[in-house]
Amino acid sequence: MSIQLNNPSLLQTQAFIDGQWCDADSGKTFAVVNPATGETIAQVADAGQAETLRAIEAAKAAMPAWKAEPAKVRAAILEKWHDLVMANQADLAKLMTLEQGKTLAESTGEVAYGASFIKWFAEESKRIYGDVLQGTPDRRGIVIKQPVGIVGAITPWNFPNAMITRKAAPALAVGCAMVLKPAAETPLSALALAELAKQAGLPAGLFNVVVGTDAPAIGGELTSNPDVKKVTFTGSTPVGKLLMKQCADTVKRTSMELGGNAPVIVFDDADLDAAVQGALVSKYRNSGQTCICSNRLIVQEGIYDAFVEKFTQAVNNFNFGNGLEDGSTHGPVITEKAMNDIHAKVESAVAQGATVVAGGKPKGGNGYFYEPTILTNVDSSMRVFREEIFGPVAPIFKFKTEQEAIEMANDTEFGLAAYFYSENLSRIWRVAESIDYGMVGVNETAISSEIIPFGGVKESGQGREGSKYGLDDYLEVKYICIGGINK
Ligand code: NAP
Repeated sequence: MSIQLNNPSLLQTQAFIDGQWCDADSGKTFAVVNPATGETIAQVADAGQAETLRAIEAAKAAMPAWKAEPAKVRAAILEKWHDLVMANQADLAKLMTLEQGKTLAESTGEVAYGASFIKWFAEESKRIYGDVLQGTPDRRGIVIKQPVGIVGAITPWNFPNAMITRKAAPALAVGCAMVLKPAAETPLSALALAELAKQAGLPAGLFNVVVGTDAPAIGGELTSNPDVKKVTFTGSTPVGKLLMKQCADTVKRTSMELGGNAPVIVFDDADLDAAVQGALVSKYRNSGQTCICSNRLIVQEGIYDAFVEKFTQAVNNFNFGNGLEDGSTHGPVITEKAMNDIHAKVESAVAQGATVVAGGKPKGGNGYFYEPTILTNVDSSMRVFREEIFGPVAPIFKFKTEQEAIEMANDTEFGLAAYFYSENLSRIWRVAESIDYGMVGVNETAISSEIIPFGGVKESGQGREGSKYGLDDYLEVKYICIGGINK
């Protein structure tokens, strides 16, 4: 299939190293597949360890001059990058829908969301402050912040644009250089971003994109090379743990945005319609494939039946289909394997006594579509409670007391996002402070934007992306002592 874009320069299929497009040394390529149809849409260079090493060397050569530029010079290039991303929003969205499957409306939204990080960090780059410490009469302490160094970044397929810009923008804004390995399922969005960075005037070597299927080889170089000072990762918790171990030998800084198991707690005193709407959006966004998707709906017994009824009515109106087609409300899941993994969790819950209220199986036909599914009669022993489902499946659990809801919410090794609905102000404070999550939405599930600190606790990761805190992940604090000032 040929991909038609308004701006054909955005369809890149080679690795981007030192400002140049290049084939893999081996000459090999890999297929990018449209999950809505199962068709191959592009062949992309299958780069590996040697290309990663070259990219790190290019970053090393490029970073000193970039770091020495005034912040406003770096900011101007980032602003231009932002403007080009927005000017090409429709093409970038189309590429994303083709390789990732989400609907065109969702892809269009993600491109704007991704661009918002570039603009935000262009602005924030001018606001990096230090301190002067009083010290003793003849000495003063000065604290300055400096770029951490070359950054290795590894990103997932579920947000093929925004998970990249949320890392690249702050890194470049403070004066770092980056080597990025995007997910093998969605390389085209990453390569299009690199092309636009080039068109924006970003000097060669500062943003390198190594595409390839041998993730352990590329990740192995990024995590072991002593010139790389920081590794930032968004993806699953097991891979995050592995990368942290690999980074230990060279004591690299790490930022980890890992898996979640978000609860949506609905108390009897909630605004029912708002809770149903919030849970729907949060559960089925990107067909259930976001790290902050609600994984467990936890509903108080007095409101349970009414909630299930309204939620089911709304889900029955969904239309899962090809994201490029009008009328599709949701797209496929990313691969056949993902579809089968989701189904295995549903089957296991059913075997343990769960009731299927809607959906419950793959849709069949071309593409990797799973029916929007609702399960009741579920409990905390089931995989759908304990594991990240990462698909359009909503298990609805029942609870009696506030304390029980808090315990259920916290009964997981994850701690990324949690949501709850209540109209009781005292309860809002109590519950918000008692649940162990990095982000809590109260009467709201659309909590993400460039101005908020995104990140988790427990095994959901460490570090924060976006907001004024997001710069800190790419800065080192240096203390300078000036002595002899009374001489
Ligand atoms: P994944 O399997 O961990 O893959 C993420 C990235 O890691 C991909 O680029 C992958 O490359 C790479 N990778 C895999 N094994 C590697 C290795 N041994 N060494 C180096 N790199 C390796 O996760 P995913 O399935 O793509 O993404 C879904 C997960 O991401 C979910 O758990 C979700 O919750 C999490 N997520 C978290 C956030 C957050 O902000 N906290 C945001 C989005 C997603 P290949 O594609 O080549 O395998």
